Amino acid sequence: KYEGLSFKDIEAIRKRHLNPALTTYYSKPFAISQGHMQWLFDLDGKRYLDMFGGICTVSVGHCHPKITKAVAEQMEILGHCSNVYYNENISKYAKKLSEKLPGKLKVIYFVNSGSEANDLAVLLARNFTKNFNVMSLKNCYHGMTYQTMALTSNAHYKYPVPQNPGFFNTVNPDVYRGIWGGEKCRDGPVQTKRSCDCGNECEAGQKYIEQFQDEFKYTISKNGLAAFFAESIQGVGGTVQFPKNYIKNVSKIVKDNGGLFVADEVQTGFGRTGDYFWGFEGHNIEPDIVTMAKGIGNGYPLAAVATTEEIASSLTKASHFNTYGGNPIASTVGLSVLNIIEEENLQENSKTIGTHLLLRLSELMDEFDFVGDVRGKGLMIGVELVSDRNSRQPLSPEKMTKIWEACRDLGLIIGRGGLHGNVFRIKPPMCISKLDADFTVDVLRYALNRL
Ligand code: PMP
Repeated sequence: KYEGLSFKDIEAIRKRHLNPALTTYYSKPFAISQGHMQWLFDLDGKRYLDMFGGICTVSVGHCHPKITKAVAEQMEILGHCSNVYYNENISKYAKKLSEKLPGKLKVIYFVNSGSEANDLAVLLARNFTKNFNVMSLKNCYHGMTYQTMALTSNAHYKYPVPQNPGFFNTVNPDVYRGIWGGEKCRDGPVQTKRSCDCGNECEAGQKYIEQFQDEFKYTISKNGLAAFFAESIQGVGGTVQFPKNYIKNVSKIVKDNGGLFVADEVQTGFGRTGDYFWGFEGHNIEPDIVTMAKGIGNGYPLAAVATTEEIASSLTKASHFNTYGGNPIASTVGLSVLNIIEEENLQENSKTIGTHLLLRLSELMDEFDFVGDVRGKGLMIGVELVSDRNSRQPLSPEKMTKIWEACRDLGLIIGRGGLHGNVFRIKPPMCISKLDADFTVDVLRYALNRL
């Protein structure tokens, strides 16, 4: 039974003492007191199915008992020691994480957040290539530090301060809203229902690739690129997928122009997309640098950058240090997460339950004209609502909020995203069951019907 501060007190303190720019979900916010696996509980003990996982962060389940036990044991032995000393935890964890990565990606830097990981990736790329320009896609999210704010492309997360120089955003190959479309050439089970057979020759995909190539005429001089950053599926941007082969082709263009390809796996890593452990594997590429956070620590502040020995050697001219990165507790959490994903077949679960959920959600498109799109892979899902399917005008924020709150009141937590806030984002802990997936569809259907 919860016996802590009242809702009113929690709210009053938050309003008085916490960052006033914090987004608060729902017009009538609620407070969470406990979590267990795929469930959250409010102060009154009401249970909610958490289909957002703390924004794609709780990968294996809230308060997973194996992590709780491992951390409690580690706390008794050694809570922290600086990485200026040797310690078996960080060594064991770095070895295991590197075994999950393909090819030459064998060197790991541990940090504390996704923003920090991307910041470090910029430094690595610039030092290694001796180039300065860094490119990313419009509608991407890569962080909120001063430098990653320039990488991120969504005015919602930008302040009117000079953006860090050397950062460019290029046209987003968004298959649903992008200028050339390409909807039929994306990956995922729902797409196959409406698939086309243009395969590798996707016309829209080709146009986006040509446009990318054009950046080297207009924006970046030949061989002047340090890095190109991309999420494998855009998360904050609203579960945005790219045409098949886009990432593969642009990664080659990047390399031909002297740059490095950085895969931001903060949301798509750790088995979430089902078919693969890393989202980039779905694009059939091997990045030069991989950044990871969120699901890596199941909610613990842990993040990492993986790269090759050759690229890492470019940072040895000075000391690169991080106080908490991969400390004994962080490494215990990270190692436990990797073990749990294996022991509990969570990547496989992402695939089977995610596919089932995607296909069931796509039924809503037949029932409601304002369900514009259902997309994604594994347990990285987006449901985009529109006021009119032809114009694809986003559904109004008021209507979105009504549906969203109706879901919450019925015990279902889902997220929201996309430039217009009209995409419901579904990224639960990967331990959910078929029953949870069906409950999600039922509740969403009920809320849509009520509208
Ligand atoms: N990259 C991606 C793809 C993200 O979704 C996020 C967080 N939403 C970040 C980077 C930044 O992570 P953090 O909030 O841990 O700094």
